[in-house]
Amino acid sequence: MAQKTIFQRIIDREIPADVVFEDDQCLAFRDIAPQAPVHVLVIPKKPIKSWAEIGEGDGPLIVHITNVIRDLAVELQLTDGYRVVCNCGDDGGQTVDHLHFHLLGGRPMRWPPG
Ligand code: AMP
Repeated sequence: MAQKTIFQRIIDREIPADVVFEDDQCLAFRDIAPQAPVHVLVIPKKPIKSWAEIGEGDGPLIVHITNVIRDLAVELQLTDGYRVVCNCGDDGGQTVDHLHFHLLGGRPMRWPPG
């Protein structure tokens, strides 16, 4: 059996995380190495490896996650705006092979990203 990713181990409660939201479809927790005052990762519980692996049938799940991110931004008081990032593959800078969305806020963001 393939090795579990660190995020699967968080879903399975094998390692701790600072969880800020959970429902039957997704989990949101604070990034262990925050790049902004607010840095939360939102992940599906379904083990999708990356943005490139999202399937046709995953539409409702992805819409649900976008709604969760929108509502979390309000709950976390990101009233001046925020950034949502999904790194995909090596060139995208993805380091964990479980689809995840970064919600970053609490400071002005620069563009272009590195
Ligand atoms: P990416 O580079 O887009 O794949 O993002 C992976 C993110 O997961 C990085 O920002 C890491 O800091 C974060 N991360 C890795 N391990 C953990 C963990 N155990 N708990 C919370 N965040 C983690």
